[in-house]
Amino acid sequence: MKLVFPAAPQVTVPVSGGDGAVPVRRIWCVGRNYAEHAREMGHDPDRELPFFFAKPADAIVANGSSIAYPPGTKDLHHEIELVVVIGKGGSNIKTADALGHVFGYGAGLDMTRRDLQGQAKKMGRPWEMGKGFDQSAPCTAIQSAAKIGHPARGAIWLKVNGQTKQSGDLSQQIWKVEETISYLSGLVALAPGDFIYNGTPAGVGPVVAGDRLEGHIDNVVDLTITYR
Ligand code: MN
Repeated sequence: MKLVFPAAPQVTVPVSGGDGAVPVRRIWCVGRNYAEHAREMGHDPDRELPFFFAKPADAIVANGSSIAYPPGTKDLHHEIELVVVIGKGGSNIKTADALGHVFGYGAGLDMTRRDLQGQAKKMGRPWEMGKGFDQSAPCTAIQSAAKIGHPARGAIWLKVNGQTKQSGDLSQQIWKVEETISYLSGLVALAPGDFIYNGTPAGVGPVVAGDRLEGHIDNVVDLTITYR
């Protein structure tokens, strides 16, 4: 059927090494997946199943971009995260099979309007305006699992203007990638192009215009984003 206006362009993220691009379908984010970060946000990491929220696919921003400080907030926060890209879909995926559904990995920022998220929490409202706003999901090129394997340990850090703000290790994730995929696939059917932002280590904090964010995940990739 004829479209009454043009479809939005497919959002894509390049595959590292110039080998094509991944079409982005959905972005799922895991909340509080590192114990120290759960504690810094006032929660007990030992008592909670993973929980998820979403960002629109077009919240993706390419690595190296300069982003305008978003509207509606006075407290934009950085959250550096391992990004897992689903290459093979499924429902009720067993933990033992889950890594076979991964196409690859990148580094992403779950940018958060912390003041809006805080209001939403207090009032029992949804988080979208704190989490799923425009340009809230910077993401690097994706390293295929065929090339780098499945990183279960290794440093993950974020510097703001050269100063280390977040520093952790992938081994500190409460829910491992395979467990997250298994649990999430019991709630929604996963499909190729689904991205999972797998939670952030401790040290989240404010970003202001003029800041330069540099992120790193051992054996995966480096990320640089500036705010203007
Ligand atoms: Mn996050």
